[in-house]
Amino acid sequence: MKIHIASHPLITHKLTLLRDENTPSPTFRSLTEEIVSLLAYEAMRDIKTQEVSVKTPVAMAKGAQLTKPSPVVVPILRAGLGMLEGMSRLIPTAEIGFLGMVRDEKTLKATTYANRLPEDLKGRQCYILDPMLATGGSMSATISLLKQVPHHCIIATCLIASPEGVATITEDHPDVLLVCAALDRQLNDQGYIMPGLGDAGDRLFGTI
Ligand code: URA
Repeated sequence: MKIHIASHPLITHKLTLLRDENTPSPTFRSLTEEIVSLLAYEAMRDIKTQEVSVKTPVAMAKGAQLTKPSPVVVPILRAGLGMLEGMSRLIPTAEIGFLGMVRDEKTLKATTYANRLPEDLKGRQCYILDPMLATGGSMSATISLLKQVPHHCIIATCLIASPEGVATITEDHPDVLLVCAALDRQLNDQGYIMPGLGDAGDRLFGTI
């Protein structure tokens, strides 16, 4: 699997605030959006475009526009929702699909409880959003589901990845690109990334 760790002082600065246990939910949400916009910029480096010409007030200019069909952004519920705004800001024409994944706290295995993906995924570029690549179970299951439709490229976008999660995706889906803001030390025995930032869903939306 190809992995791109977006190392930039601004991203590190914002991620450090995000990690801080004293950062309240509203700040956590807006920092997440800001980081995701920066990650999206990296994740979309190879987005498909076609050459076009436009007329400026002065002369013709050559440029590029995104090809159709539009890319699909797939936040994994619920924490992935916190990344949607930052991604949509950069690419407002993308279609959104939703996948609900829940992991069994004992086995840490992921199962799908909701699936609202666009009908026609063929040939689309898919950007999966999940803030924490922990065991990699949810991400791997999501990628497998998307791969049931052939010929699209899949890019996983996360805030923080663990070495264990990277190993899972490398083994299951070596063709996928992972873009993240940091690769942390390890998982603890509850499946949390260390040092990580705790439970991303709870920190984004509050404990339910
Ligand atoms: N999910 C989270 O929200 N945090 C982790 O550290 C691991 C999985």
